[in-house]
Amino acid sequence: MIKTLTVKTSSREEFVDIRAEVEKVVKDSGIKNGVCYLYVPHTTAGITINEGADPSVKKDIINALKKIVPYGAGYAHIEGNADSHIKTTLVGSSVNIFIEGGRLILGQWQSIFFCEFDGPRTRKVYMKIIKEEE
Ligand code: ZN
Repeated sequence: MIKTLTVKTSSREEFVDIRAEVEKVVKDSGIKNGVCYLYVPHTTAGITINEGADPSVKKDIINALKKIVPYGAGYAHIEGNADSHIKTTLVGSSVNIFIEGGRLILGQWQSIFFCEFDGPRTRKVYMKIIKEEE
């Protein structure tokens, strides 16, 4: 079964930490060992794993992406959000995280970030947990 998480974003470009919400779904599932798949079904928003302890890290990533892919830099896509599509392709649309002992196996400083590149909008993250055979 696919679980749908809803993410409301409040600016055009924003990283939203969804680790706690994902952890809650894993806990509620009762599954101890397996894999958690997270997939973002949008063309101008993605998902990535990076440092959640220092909020300036996500700010630096957003600013670096803006430099690499500037807004309105003569793109062919006439909708005006070509930079959003390109940034989405750079960060990607899915992450997979192992589950052991009912917990997500993430590094000490890692969080899961929903990456908005054309907000503010209400977005979706699809989540599927596969239980390991025992
Ligand atoms: Zn577009």
